[in-house]
This record gives sequence, structure tokens and C-alpha cells, in this order.
Amino acid sequence: MLRVGIVGFSGRMGQLITQNLAQESDLKLSCIFTHQNSPLISQEVFLTNDWNIFLQSCDCVIDFSNHNATHQLLKALLHSPKPSVIGTTGLQEEDKSLLQEASKTSAIVYATNTSQGIALLNQLAFLIAQTLQDSDIEISEFHHNKKKDSPSGTAMTLAEFCAKGRGLDLQSVRVSGRDGNIGERSKNEIGVMSFRGGDIVGKHTVGFYCDGEYLELTHNATNRNTFAKGAIRALKWVAEQKSGLYSMQDVLKF
Ligand code: NAD
Repeated sequence: MLRVGIVGFSGRMGQLITQNLAQESDLKLSCIFTHQNSPLISQEVFLTNDWNIFLQSCDCVIDFSNHNATHQLLKALLHSPKPSVIGTTGLQEEDKSLLQEASKTSAIVYATNTSQGIALLNQLAFLIAQTLQDSDIEISEFHHNKKKDSPSGTAMTLAEFCAKGRGLDLQSVRVSGRDGNIGERSKNEIGVMSFRGGDIVGKHTVGFYCDGEYLELTHNATNRNTFAKGAIRALKWVAEQKSGLYSMQDVLKF
């Protein structure tokens, strides 16, 4: 039986992951990292705001929180390595460096989207970007009005796959807003635009616009549980891996 620790327990994703864990015979919620005062949920589940105690109380970790918490978790993993699934988006450059560092001693799946469909879409986007070299690439993402970071981590990962397919550095070609007399679109730019409203779980479209034709691929998440199920699948997989940084493509063997 694997003892699971959760970061972000009280959040939308944390709650769904907890419900899904309860249905798993080989996984058991053992501890929760909390930065606020939280009521005890059961005698068997330990609550703490101390990272070292948290990591000592579990065999593996699922983190769906925010980049500050993820940063702290990664620092703690340097001292107490544990297989982990990190689904938190909006990581800063320094968090990503820490992620690389922590993955030298812990097996970590980092996935800005844990659904099967997006893992496949990333692969397809890479292939199309590489094949349709003359196309203009534009990505749009739609999310609910409670989402805090923008563009979505999923859209940024999609853009990274497209940039890789073109041999470009995303940082220098990404455009995430157009306003005013900005001139013609440059050939290499990759547009990543964000829309926010209502309760949209997540919609991502990547378009490849050529002269005379265009190709658009859209992924719609209709239920957030798809992310929770994907995260648990990734956790079971990563628990058996040696240290390293892995993606959902690795988990799903695409
Ligand atoms: P939410 O706002 O509902 O929950 C955030 C959780 O993080 C809460 O439990 C909150 O208490 C906790 N938290 C915030 N700051 C903290 C800190 N400093 N220390 C400890 N805990 C802290 O958000 P959500 O919708 O559950 O999403 C959480 C994260 O997961 C976001 O980054 C979101 O973009 C990402 N997400 C990823 C996927 C995926 O497939 N990878 C899917 C959905 C959401």
C-alpha cells in the first residue's frame, strides 16, 4: 500500500484527487500539507505545515496547488526525495530550475495537463509544426473565470511542442496579446491567447494557418475528473521509476 501526501488538498483538484484515491486499493491518503488552519479529516490522515514532516509521512506526493507551494515542496524534496506528480501550473523560471535539480534524486512527473487527449495533442502539434513549416501557428485557450494564471500551463506546453517542431526558442517568439498598430505578423511568431469566463473546464485549440487552407485541432475537457484520474495514473507509474523528470507522454508511452 502506497501512502500518498497531497499538496493543495482543499482546492478543486485536491478534492477530486482525494475522492479518486478513496477508490484505489493500493493507494491511501496519509498526509496533507496545509498552509492554513484546516480541520482534521480523519484520525488516519495527518495534517502538517512542516515540509519535512510531510515528506516523512508519505511514500509519494501529488501537488496541485500554486507555484509558491510547489517551490517549497521542490526545496524539501532535495533533502527527502519522493516520487511525485506535480500538476501545478504557472511555474516561474526559478521553480523550473528547482524542478530539474529535484529530479536528480526524485522521480517526478511534471504535467501542466494530466489528460490523455492533451498528451496526444502535444505530440500531434509537434509533428504538424515540423511538417507545415510555412504555417502561422496560433493557440487559443478558454478557462473558467476562477483561473489565476495566464496563459494556461497547457497552452504554454503546446506552444513549446510547436516551437520545438520548428527549432525555435519559445521565449523569443511567443506573442500573448495584440493591440494597436503593431504591423504585420512576423513569420516565426507563435500566438498564445487567453479567454476567461463562466465554468469552462478547459478548451485548447492549436491552429496552423497556411495560404489557401488551415488545420485546427481542438481539445475540450468536459469534466475536471479527467485530470484527477490522469494524475493518479501518473502517480502509480512514477512510484516505480528511478529518479528523473518525466512527462505524461512517458506515463502513457506515446
Ligand atoms: P484551487 O485554487 O482550487 O486550489 C489551490 C490549492 O492550493 C488550495 O488547496 C490552496 O489552499 C493551496 N495553496 C495555495 N497556496 C498555497 C501555499 N502557499 N501553500 C500550500 N498550499 C497552497 O486551484 P485548482 O483548480 O485546484 O488548481 C490547482 C493548480 O492545478 C493550479 O495551478 C491549476 O492551474 C492546476 N491544474 C492543473 C491541471 C493539470 O491537469 N495538470 C488541471 C487543473 C488544474
